[in-house]
Amino acid sequence: MNLSRNAAAWELVCQRWQSGHHWFDDAIPPVQRTAHEHLVELKAVKPVAVNQQFALCGHCGLHTAPIFRDKAALRMQCPECGPVAVAARDLKAWVVDEEWLIRKLRAAFSVPTHQEVVRITAGVWRIGLHQRTAVLLARRLDLLLQQPSVLARGRGETVLWLITPKRLREGDDDPVAGAARWLPMEERFTLYGGNVSFIDADTSRGDEAIASADPVYGPFSADFRWVRLQGEGASIELSEAQAAVLKALWEFGGQSQEAHLVMSRAGLASDKPIDVFKVKAQHKGNERYEGPLRAYKALVKTNQRAGTYALAPGVMGAAISSAVATLS
Ligand SMILES: [Zn+2]
Repeated sequence: MNLSRNAAAWELVCQRWQSGHHWFDDAIPPVQRTAHEHLVELKAVKPVAVNQQFALCGHCGLHTAPIFRDKAALRMQCPECGPVAVAARDLKAWVVDEEWLIRKLRAAFSVPTHQEVVRITAGVWRIGLHQRTAVLLARRLDLLLQQPSVLARGRGETVLWLITPKRLREGDDDPVAGAARWLPMEERFTLYGGNVSFIDADTSRGDEAIASADPVYGPFSADFRWVRLQGEGASIELSEAQAAVLKALWEFGGQSQEAHLVMSRAGLASDKPIDVFKVKAQHKGNERYEGPLRAYKALVKTNQRAGTYALAPGVMGAAISSAVATLS
């Protein structure tokens, strides 16, 4: 999977948005896990309580039986294995947060807050105006194609904008010709920096997003949110705090600084630069968290005894680091 984390996350939104049903945490395939976790972070997906009454026996994997509560624990009574614990995780499920999606799409079109969101029918909303024309959001194209009256109700005098995922009708270029201008979610919108952007037909915002990850300051992107390590093809995305620490170190020009100076320049409350790179036990092995730590280890030089931090020599480019060496 070579998609960026953002692109993979947006693809997952488009895919999940169509059904409108929840999906179980356990059923998330490993290749989608990183994208899913990114969506959880962005609050693009929300947990739902699922009233699941049956569970598969976690012991033999053969029998399904009703779930019951035994003191604090959930169990199922397997006819062969007896009472078997059911992990709460098995019952955790997710849905795309429709309020999040509508809010982000409205922002992509700069819809003013006084324009209301109107639910036209199940799975179809009018989310505001773009270029003085109503924008409809639907879970699937067929919700509209099966009920032409819905299109008519969303439409005033003019042709509508229509946002839906593309998948169901691959190959059909303009299934709603005449009735609406169709904006397939996968093609005309991107997710970046927690926001959804509209790609105008003439420009490609997608290229811009990729370009913004390209190294500008040494291995860092222009906004320090991305870093590309030597010998690695893809850039690593950093959190805001991680980017602030590395930017501060960059601004110190490779000179060693005490931790509190670095952190105050970064505008952070933690004690030491490493604090914002530490990988919590539950994120061990997750590239989303391990990547920034790897970058930190490769790029930051610590003097334990003096308690000072600097970018490793060479990070700022040979010319600059030798100039700094002469100065110090
Ligand atoms: Zn069993």
